[in-house]
Amino acid sequence: MERLQKVLAQAGVASRRKCEEIILAGRVTVNGEVVNTLGAKANPNTDEIKVDGKPVAFEKKVYLLFNKPKGVITSASDPEGRKIVTDYLKGIKERVYPVGRLDYDTEGLLILTNDGEFANLLTHPKHHVPKTYLATVKGVPHGDKLERLRNGVKLEDGMTAPAEVEYQDVDPEKKQATIMITIYEGRNRQVRRMFDAIHHPVDKLKRIAFGPILLSNLKRGTFRPLTAVEVKELQ
Ligand code: URA
Repeated sequence: MERLQKVLAQAGVASRRKCEEIILAGRVTVNGEVVNTLGAKANPNTDEIKVDGKPVAFEKKVYLLFNKPKGVITSASDPEGRKIVTDYLKGIKERVYPVGRLDYDTEGLLILTNDGEFANLLTHPKHHVPKTYLATVKGVPHGDKLERLRNGVKLEDGMTAPAEVEYQDVDPEKKQATIMITIYEGRNRQVRRMFDAIHHPVDKLKRIAFGPILLSNLKRGTFRPLTAVEVKELQ
């Protein structure tokens, strides 16, 4: 038995907070009885749970690791008809959605799941899941500029938290450098904006790690299930 709002969130109905609102609005029944107070418990395997009269489907939980190519939208649909991440998930019947997002032009590690609770946990700002990127930038930033990134730079939505930053590759001929950066926040276009702030704009951005999960040699545009150990490590 779990709390009803947790059961609903795990089924992907909505976030746990939103599920609380749905319960309080009297939209949920358990075995035919309206439950409109928080604190009730339910068993998804034996109770018949409905929202707005529709049975809640308890799908098998799916956790995928995808290597997103650039030029793909991290979203379940795109009004402009561009490619979306789920176009690549051949053979996956469950309705999965991305944990956080990568920009259209960013490639690399993206986790997808139908476990709403898991997704909320990983994207909640208080969890500070480290995310590591390889950023190929214009010009070769001096050490003092990387130090600014380490300590925090001022962006229009405030100072960034301390980050880990190191050179990965420097190509003076091409006048570019590849920097490995780990951030503990997930603001919109954060890495690009951090490098803009030190006047070395990003040409190419690839996420290579999310918490303990590594992209390794997963081929671009392909996916694999996370192992049970990986799912546990993330929780
Ligand atoms: N930071 C960015 O700027 N873009 C991403 O896609 C992810 C992190």
